Amino acid sequence: MKVFPITTNLFTYKPDFKRKSSPYISDVFAEPVDTFVPSFQAKIKQPIKTLKEFREHTTGTGHHCLYCHKELKYGEKDIKDWTEGGLFSEPIKTIVQHFKQYKPSLHEKEKEVFSMIEELSEMYPDAHLDTVIKIMSILANKDLYKVQKPIFDSIVDQAKLLPEKEKNAIESIIEISKKRIFHQPYIEEYSALELRYQIRRLTEAIPNDEQAKKIEKLTDLLMIQCIRKEKKDVTYDAVKKVLETLYPDQEITVTKAMKKEYTREKLRFTIIDAIKREAEAAKSGDIVQLCESAKRQLNKEPIVRKFTNKGLKHDLAQVLEPAKDKGGQAQALENNKENAKHKRIRTRIFYLADSLPTSDSSIQAFIVKHDRSTSEKIAYDIFAPSSNTAEHLLPQSQNGTDDITNIAAACKRCNNDRQDGPMEKLFRRHGRENAQLYADEVIADTNNGYYTYQDGLGILETLEQQSGIKINRDGLKFPQPRK
Ligand SMILES: [Zn+2]
Repeated sequence: MKVFPITTNLFTYKPDFKRKSSPYISDVFAEPVDTFVPSFQAKIKQPIKTLKEFREHTTGTGHHCLYCHKELKYGEKDIKDWTEGGLFSEPIKTIVQHFKQYKPSLHEKEKEVFSMIEELSEMYPDAHLDTVIKIMSILANKDLYKVQKPIFDSIVDQAKLLPEKEKNAIESIIEISKKRIFHQPYIEEYSALELRYQIRRLTEAIPNDEQAKKIEKLTDLLMIQCIRKEKKDVTYDAVKKVLETLYPDQEITVTKAMKKEYTREKLRFTIIDAIKREAEAAKSGDIVQLCESAKRQLNKEPIVRKFTNKGLKHDLAQVLEPAKDKGGQAQALENNKENAKHKRIRTRIFYLADSLPTSDSSIQAFIVKHDRSTSEKIAYDIFAPSSNTAEHLLPQSQNGTDDITNIAAACKRCNNDRQDGPMEKLFRRHGRENAQLYADEVIADTNNGYYTYQDGLGILETLEQQSGIKINRDGLKFPQPRK
């Protein structure tokens, strides 16, 4: 029997597919020599051309992430199905049972969280994910603080070198941060600007655009000069604008009595209540809580707020970075001629804040971040980072198209980590050899007719161009004509 060359390639480039008895390999031997190429093609009606076909082909079939080489066992669609099917609201014993099979493909941090859940599922099989995370968060919070505290101390040390006013402001930010970490109530002044910033940040997570816009529009009312600031008198126009936004179907004429009734305080509460109602409709518990806190602030009552790195950095920036839109103030600061020493201290403080453990880098931070989250949100954040996504080799922002020669399989975390930056930083992190491992899967797929020869070659060329890593494509077989 004549040995045809492709077998060598098939063995060399055999991807680690889940189907252990790869149908195409046994078929090669079963087929007469001169028809083996068409036999691959015959198995697939059409080579992959669309993103949908690509996702289906690379999910749960032994394909790996281009960058981290984790196996892509499920896709975003699976997560959607699990969520909608209510799987994540089941007791943890059910969740553990179902997801054990996916554990090897999780990233290290999520894998460890899953292991902890597995352990707890033996003690509390009927508990739900949100409860389990709450239990875990008590210890995690203490452990996390052991890492946070020396960083806070260093920030305060640096702040001591700054002018008195900034030093005091930063000390109080750190004090409040500690209170937030341990869920202790504290008094905080109401700030419309701050509230709007927080709400804007949270509306991004509202899937319904219309609801998100409505909430933002209402929040903007709090920024009307005479409502925002204590000094100015409330105007007819302001009352009219608020009432028109609240009751868009009604003709509003503001009478003298109405203007008297709608004091600044009443307007603020009315607007915040309206935001809260919309947030409830949009199922945004976080915005509802913010509204509750804002009302407590207005009543000069203590509030409890969760610590976040983002919140801390925002507060630090408010003190350390003169905002461009503050106009006069920014100008004044510039005239003060910031000296180089203070600039360096500011940079160091931001650097320290950036070094705080994040939910991406620390298991404890991940657990603490989710101590009030729903079971669905927790499960999503455990499983989504390892799900299969279609990565654009040349980023869309650089006019990269959906053409199949520009698409690779990557886990959601790597895809997000790269954004539209160079691939190099990801290969440096995970290993440059992963580019060739991915190329080998593309070569095997092409040889097996999942891609046309041109597309297969195109993918390898784009990968080489974008990664700057030399790709060995010797295994790629030019399609052989039927004899
Ligand atoms: Zn990856």
